[in-house]
Amino acid sequence: MAARSASNSPSNSASPRTSRQNASRAAHRADVLVIGWGLGGLVAAAEAAAAGKTVVIVDQEPRTNLGGQAFWSFGGLFFIDSPEQRRMGIRDSIELARQDWFDTAGFDRDDDLWPRRWAEAYLDFAHGEKRAWLREKGVGFFPVVGWAERGGYTATGPGNSVPRFHITWGTGPGLVAPFQAAVEQAEAEGRLTILPRHRVTALTTADGTVTGAAGDVLAASDAERGAPSSREVVGEFEITAAATVVLSGGIGGNHDLVRWQWPARLGTPPEHMITGVPAYVDGSMQPVTAAAGARLINGDRMWHYVEGIQNWDPIWPGHGIRILPGPSSIWLDATGARLPVPLFPGFDTLGTLAHLRQTGHDHSWFVLSQKIVEKEFTLSGSEQNPDLTGKDLPLLVRSRLGKGAAGPVQAFLDHGADFVVRRTLDELIDGMRALPGGDALDGARVRREVEARDREMDNDFTKDAQVAMLRSARAYRGDKLIRTAAPHRILDPAAGPLIAVKLHVLTRKSLGGIETDLSGRALGADGSPVPGLYAAGEAAGFGGGGVHGYRALEGTFVGGCLFSGRVAGRAAAAAV
Ligand SMILES: Cc1cc2nc3c(=O)[nH]c(=O)nc-3n(C[C@H](O)[C@H](O)[C@H](O)COP(=O)(O)OP(=O)(O)OC[C@H]3O[C@@H](n4cnc5c(N)ncnc54)[C@H](O)[C@@H]3O)c2cc1C
Repeated sequence: MAARSASNSPSNSASPRTSRQNASRAAHRADVLVIGWGLGGLVAAAEAAAAGKTVVIVDQEPRTNLGGQAFWSFGGLFFIDSPEQRRMGIRDSIELARQDWFDTAGFDRDDDLWPRRWAEAYLDFAHGEKRAWLREKGVGFFPVVGWAERGGYTATGPGNSVPRFHITWGTGPGLVAPFQAAVEQAEAEGRLTILPRHRVTALTTADGTVTGAAGDVLAASDAERGAPSSREVVGEFEITAAATVVLSGGIGGNHDLVRWQWPARLGTPPEHMITGVPAYVDGSMQPVTAAAGARLINGDRMWHYVEGIQNWDPIWPGHGIRILPGPSSIWLDATGARLPVPLFPGFDTLGTLAHLRQTGHDHSWFVLSQKIVEKEFTLSGSEQNPDLTGKDLPLLVRSRLGKGAAGPVQAFLDHGADFVVRRTLDELIDGMRALPGGDALDGARVRREVEARDREMDNDFTKDAQVAMLRSARAYRGDKLIRTAAPHRILDPAAGPLIAVKLHVLTRKSLGGIETDLSGRALGADGSPVPGLYAAGEAAGFGGGGVHGYRALEGTFVGGCLFSGRVAGRAAAAAV
């Protein structure tokens, strides 16, 4: 299936050109130009600078945003057969991981030629050099390995057969830190220039070779990290470079673009979505890169979450937070019907999204107990995990193993617009029905689902696949310790109060992007490299134009930026 062409895409947030009349045109020159200072951009720039090249990094945002999305990320990383896994009793192998990756990706298109090759290369990296390379840079990992995307189908279905989600000690900021330090060191030595508030609107070319970029200088902004900044134009710029690397991220902050590329296999796009990325993840470089001759592929492959909640304390517009759910909550659709097997929390993100899009409603519900929320709710995002982000061991022990919900989770229970906390099921159902869209809920259906599930707890036997899975999950030390509550009746007053959470679709990652070869060279319509042009990170589908295929195993996005940014930075440096 052909992806839609970026050149016809809906316009990206148009720039008001208020001060243009007096605009001056600034000119810069470098060996390597890096567009975007997210994790991918920092890695590529650090590599090019380490190779002795002069580097310019441009980004449309104020400098407070260095690190891009990765700063906000949980810093979850996919490793294969790591020491952390082995210490937790997990026997992983490259063969098992390859099976999981390819069965999850479901590559099935001619356009998957380079994505498949990137997948093989990335698996080798995640099994080999990746961990040692990061350790060398001072990056550490939380010892308990998480089990994301558990699948629940057969051995040839999607999902992780074993836990592989390694949390960076220090979360996203801990991952960004060494690359930011390397870039700033090169800047201090005069070999690298960082140009904030430079918004690229064109790649410049000469005889089919990309020679740099041009665009608008935006007005200085004191917007805080993550908050939207103005698009007022105060000047123009042009940068000449022997190699240009596009690392401009995905499209998750641009709902028009998400809707436009939304694939029919996921039903119709929701009318209402919340936003899991800052507004600068706007896809503005897509038409610009296509206009320079690069091919964008797999735009219809995207990774949005189904456990989004509205942030009570938002930083960016429509700011939503993803619950990284443990497996115990009962998942109901908007009418109160339980989701089918194996669509349990944390099992199959896109399978659940596709199912929910058939229900005729944009939202769904978790129903759970206080006991479950305390053990199982983790919120994705560095700012939602002050213990891990701040490397604060006492806080970590208190919040993950102590009594009560972790502070950030409790804040949502107290202030979150999507949370209902009540003593009895009748009160809970009334509370759910009182939220916007809650009138779709059939209270009798909710009662039947919850009571029937609870009856399954009286026995060691069960016909309920989720209950059986809960029991088996606790055989894994990591789950038993911090991720899976001891199975209990949801309606047991001792486990209460009862909690319902209204869940929204939350936009996040673009799985497709600029097609690249294994050197990160952007490829044109005829399959040959566009001279002078490279791409990596989310803008390039984390490698090749879509290393994940249709679905991801998680922890593979920041990892994909590390790997593809490194490849492109090294290749660009070697070519000039
Ligand atoms: C809350 C959150 C949690 C996450 N958790 C995880 C996790 O645990 N594990 C994981 O693997 N992934 C996670 N991710 C995803 C991951 O962080 C991102 O996919 C990744 O960081 C993208 O990096 P990037 O360098 O490709 O792009 P970005 O970080 O998006 O950076 C792109 C930059 O390009 C700039 N730009 C765009 N267009 C232009 C233009 N025209 N001119 C100039 N500049 C431009 C933007 O301003 C931006 O600064 C998470 C993301 C979020 C938001």
